[in-house]
Amino acid sequence: MAFVLCSPVLLEAKWHRKAPVCSAGKGFGKAPQCGCGLEKPYQECCGAIHERRRKAEFAKELMRARYSAYQKALVGFIMDTTTGVSESEDSEKWRAALSAYVQATKFKGLKVMKSEKGAPGDDEGYVTFSVKTNSGSYTERSRFVPDEEFGWKYVREPEDSTTQ
Ligand SMILES: [Zn+2]
Repeated sequence: MAFVLCSPVLLEAKWHRKAPVCSAGKGFGKAPQCGCGLEKPYQECCGAIHERRRKAEFAKELMRARYSAYQKALVGFIMDTTTGVSESEDSEKWRAALSAYVQATKFKGLKVMKSEKGAPGDDEGYVTFSVKTNSGSYTERSRFVPDEEFGWKYVREPEDSTTQ
């Protein structure tokens, strides 16, 4: 398992500090790990956001929830938490493309590298993260805006032609 077990501390107030460095092997035999990499059971972590039992307080929480939604092929959640999609876009086509993408891709790890703004009360937030998949790794700096339903939403930039 190449999954990076290191995760930022859960105390949100400490977010701007550097995430602690975990030693290899730490986390085994502990609380089950959510797909986003945090050492919390899925139901208490991203599951609560996926099932709309809880809103993401911070932009990076929504980012994590989107990552684990990709992992779990929760296409509806990915679509619902994306904004900036043009009116003319065929949502059925998008759904089909997303479904094909998540089914063909193995998501092997998420590393949140940087978070700028994105705290309660902020009008936007940016999260820089790196995702490892079976077809390679990529790093992205995504923009998020506050949202009534989910807490935050991912802003799909006009030049973003991928299925994300
Ligand atoms: Zn999670």
